[in-house]
Amino acid sequence: MKLDDERAGRLILALRQQGVTDGRVLAAMEAVDRALFVHQKFLDQAWEDQALPIDCAQTISQPFIVGLMTQALDVQPRHRVLEIGTGSGYQCAVLSRLARYVYSVERYRSLLSEAEERLRALGADNVITRHGDGGLGWPEQAPFDRIMVTAAAPGEPTELLKQLKPQGVLVAPVGRGSVQMLHRYVGQGDGSFRRESLTEVRFVPLVEGLAKEG
Ligand code: SAH
Repeated sequence: MKLDDERAGRLILALRQQGVTDGRVLAAMEAVDRALFVHQKFLDQAWEDQALPIDCAQTISQPFIVGLMTQALDVQPRHRVLEIGTGSGYQCAVLSRLARYVYSVERYRSLLSEAEERLRALGADNVITRHGDGGLGWPEQAPFDRIMVTAAAPGEPTELLKQLKPQGVLVAPVGRGSVQMLHRYVGQGDGSFRRESLTEVRFVPLVEGLAKEG
């Protein structure tokens, strides 16, 4: 545990130096043990600033990107947040420490059940999950204060923007290539959104429909 504490401290410091300066975001990331979300064989790299493979040819995002996206989302304690792409559940666990409720959608049932188990073990009881196509959002629970998409949307996430509150914020990688632009949409209160480009990122694509599993 001592070794992990040191590694965690070092990673948090590095994130701060790279521009993740929001103390609540850093505290949430320090509190969530990333080692619980990675494969046994990558345990040594759990606190390194790199993306790692998870099952179903997906990835757990690089901590710097998790920090950057979480900071850009500006989550407040009373917020209901929608996350698309539960994956390992790591980003979800970080969000669950900042928001009132986190709704998370994943198209692979097997990834979702593993993530649910981890989140339960962590006591993240404000997370509600769903096996579904996140491109369609979660209309029954809309509108959301914040929406984070952790897979690359091919174009403007119009369906999801409809499920955002008028003053809401949505963060999503957008693009069809292997490199996408991380966009932040900020609701202007009149149904329109101001779009900002944050940085280039590499995410797995947002894929339509439920995943077929063997
Ligand atoms: N937030 C995750 C990152 C997972 S990678 C983490 O912290 O580990 C992106 C995830 O999005 C993958 O698990 C992939 O299966 C999922 N995904 C892709 N398209 C999707 C869709 N249409 N609906 C729901 N999940 C989707």
